[in-house]
Amino acid sequence: MTVLALETSCDETAVAILRGDRSGHALFASEVASQVAAHEKYGGIVPEIASRNHLIHAPRLLDRAASAAKTRLSEIDVFAATTGPGLASSLMIGASIAKGLTIGFGKRYLGINHLEGHLLSPFFVDATPSSRKSEPCDGGVASTMRAQGDIKPNLSLIVSGGHTMLVAVRGLANYQLIGHTVDDAAGEAFDKVAKMLGLGYPGGPEIEKYARGGDPKRFDFPRSMPGSENFSFSGLKTAVRYLLPKIGVIPSEVEGSRGVTKEEFQRGPSTPLCFARDNKLLADLCASFQQAIIDVLVTKTIEAAQKYRVDLVTISGGVSCNQELRRQMGDASSRKGIEFRGVEPWLCTDNAAMIAFAALLRLRAGFESQLTEEINPNLTLA
Ligand code: ADP
Ligand code: MG
Repeated sequence: MTVLALETSCDETAVAILRGDRSGHALFASEVASQVAAHEKYGGIVPEIASRNHLIHAPRLLDRAASAAKTRLSEIDVFAATTGPGLASSLMIGASIAKGLTIGFGKRYLGINHLEGHLLSPFFVDATPSSRKSEPCDGGVASTMRAQGDIKPNLSLIVSGGHTMLVAVRGLANYQLIGHTVDDAAGEAFDKVAKMLGLGYPGGPEIEKYARGGDPKRFDFPRSMPGSENFSFSGLKTAVRYLLPKIGVIPSEVEGSRGVTKEEFQRGPSTPLCFARDNKLLADLCASFQQAIIDVLVTKTIEAAQKYRVDLVTISGGVSCNQELRRQMGDASSRKGIEFRGVEPWLCTDNAAMIAFAALLRLRAGFESQLTEEINPNLTLA
């Protein structure tokens, strides 16, 4: 069975082709087109620009995916698309294309929850040659890859730009949401603080880079909502903002302005001046902020795994690219005798391979969608 999946929930257009047989699955194409540059000058994602770009990118990606997979669209068995959560006008593009192809070629259709794509991605076992692993997250990947389909019960932390949630996973399509963020998502906190510091977008990789070699104990940032299964990161963001003037740094605007570009930051002098002279301060600030987020994510995840008596912890979503988070989550898990599974960096951020994988597992379990099924910007996991 060959599945073609489209992912257009936000500002990334992605297409993947996954083939499954009795012995496993092989990914034949995974193409991603990022729109970061198109939205950067507006200081955030503009929905109409995102949907217009999906329309421009999707046909090209479909072509590229089909040729990478050495197949024709008419040979695909099932067309899948992300149907929520996300921006309505973006979701509609991917779902409409998948439905159009389904009708045109007389095939089957399946709508997939974006969050389920992330949640199942740690089970997408990667046997890609190591030379491909250094590909950037937004690069195209066309390779054969084995993937296993058994979803072991696990405690899943989905941590991305739009979501931070803890889910007790009992098996495919059997999910219990046990905690979520009450304000900012962890990735959003990384992005906003990076903007304050005059670093680039997305902020997570920038902060991770500057945090290397920094002292994570130099600044004592809050770890909010201890003991709760929910998360809150907006106080942490505010704490960084209030600290900056005290250490002689002028923060660039957090919201509503475009902030300071990396070039301006490196050029100075209108940008965080003392950082230009004091890289140690920037490194310590980034390391302390990153550690505050990691402490909260690791503590709550491990506590939840123990409470729900599961012996496997998984993490997925863009923030799970963070090497320090993975290392500390791995260490904390093994101290408690819990297995830990992360996701290959290229599979952490938004992509269509995870949507195709979720679709293949669901098809095998007998799920299928009607063409009348709507997209749902507020789709929940459980
Ligand atoms: P969403 O689907 O919610 O838009 P993604 O799953 O694509 O989000 O993840 C994007 C988010 O991941 C951004 O907020 C980005 O800053 C964050 N991110 C990416 N890489 C890292 C990293 N190495 N460390 C921390 N955060 C990261
Ligand atoms: Mg995502």
